[in-house]
Amino acid sequence: MNFDPASSLQDTLHLDSATKGVNQPISDSATFAFETGDDMLKCFHGEKEAFLYSRHWNPTNLELSKALAAMEGTEAAWVTGSGMGAITSALLQLLKAGDHIITSVTTYGGTYAFLKNWITKYGVEVSFVNISDLKEVEKAVKPNTKVIYTETMTNPMLQISDIPELAKISKKVGAKLVVDNTFTPMIFSPIKLGADVVVYSMTKFINGKNDTTAGAICGSKDYINSLIDLNDGTAMLLGPALDPLRSSNIHKNLFTLHIRMKQHSYNAMFLAEKFQENNISVNYPGLEKNKNHNLMKSTMNKQFGFGGMIAIDLKTVENANKFMYIMQERGVGYLAVSLGYFKTLFSNSGKSTSSEVPENVQKEMGMSEGLVRYSVGLDNDIERTWQIIKECLQEIKFI
Ligand code: PLP
Repeated sequence: MNFDPASSLQDTLHLDSATKGVNQPISDSATFAFETGDDMLKCFHGEKEAFLYSRHWNPTNLELSKALAAMEGTEAAWVTGSGMGAITSALLQLLKAGDHIITSVTTYGGTYAFLKNWITKYGVEVSFVNISDLKEVEKAVKPNTKVIYTETMTNPMLQISDIPELAKISKKVGAKLVVDNTFTPMIFSPIKLGADVVVYSMTKFINGKNDTTAGAICGSKDYINSLIDLNDGTAMLLGPALDPLRSSNIHKNLFTLHIRMKQHSYNAMFLAEKFQENNISVNYPGLEKNKNHNLMKSTMNKQFGFGGMIAIDLKTVENANKFMYIMQERGVGYLAVSLGYFKTLFSNSGKSTSSEVPENVQKEMGMSEGLVRYSVGLDNDIERTWQIIKECLQEIKFI
């Protein structure tokens, strides 16, 4: 596979045609005028392409969407005001009452809650599976299965989904494979591996600044057009469109993503090795001993590394809380949810971003109550950071 998401993205750069500005102008209009009533009517009937209203399209969101589509290798994309806006719109467009979706049981807690508690109210059947067990996935298939859903690297267990194999299963049964690639932009190109739709929380690595929530849906032209169909498009009618001011910022941040991913990955690999050397139970797919290492190696775009996410197991909530408190005091990072920021962030998943998942299900997934999830930052001297982390571990008498 020779696809290079960073080069493909870079090739979308162009001067603003009106002013020769190096960045694209921000479109500051919610509505757009037509020369004639007839032109407007044609636009409503889909006979004329034009900007109509910002909830549908605006020029700034279109620029960002084109860049994202190039990065993913899809025909089109559409941008939303949050990752959940993207996930919920993407799924609701593919599912109706009486349909069935198979989903990884380990996903972001909000996605889990949406599939467990919300979509079921509208007559959609949901099966939660261990996505690494392909036999279990196949067994869960029903005649009404319309979607298989997973995260390329799952939150917070850092399982790697076998996208090529899941794509085979979904194609065989006529379902769509929808993949959340939030943890691993550029590292994985799910569409190139056979997925049908890719969703993102751009709040995370893609934007990388923690100054806004945002999301994206990437897929075929037909699918994206169906999402924003004026009469029955989920995105058009539920209205999660991204604000163009934010869109413009994210668009600019996108062009440093490849460098940031490489540094996040370098720093995470360094820390993961140090945890391993100190006999801390560490989950990082970059480590050769990790059970997902070979699968990741054989399906990833190697130049971007194994990503910025690490999970370590401190066995108890008390240990995790003490450790995170000291790390924050010493400046290692912030005790905060979310990820993909330039400063390291850490949280105890079971009591935060996965707290929507009942404790018994957390146990079934193998999620320890002492799991500390790191989103490793862009530190210039990661050895210095490790020394501080080591002191924190010694102070709580864990090593
Ligand atoms: N997908 C993943 C993997 C996430 O970790 C998150 C948030 O943490 C989301 C989706 C939801 O994104 P947002 O918070 O932008 O709605």
